[in-house]
Amino acid sequence: MSESTLQVKCPTCRRPVPWSPEQEFKPFCSERCKMIDLGEWAMEEKVIPGEPLEDTLDQLDDDSFFQ
Ligand SMILES: [Zn+2]
Repeated sequence: MSESTLQVKCPTCRRPVPWSPEQEFKPFCSERCKMIDLGEWAMEEKVIPGEPLEDTLDQLDDDSFFQ
């Protein structure tokens, strides 16, 4: 068996990915790698200064209103 299928390397994890119609996330090997790559892209756009947004949301303790 020779290389009948063209392969590309996943930009995220550099695993060989067969360039086939079934490979819906190509050039990525999986949806996960695709999301990782898109995430890194987004982070370059907006520089996060230090405090994650999630921490700020946690401090809004809505539970106290129900007691
Ligand atoms: Zn990958």
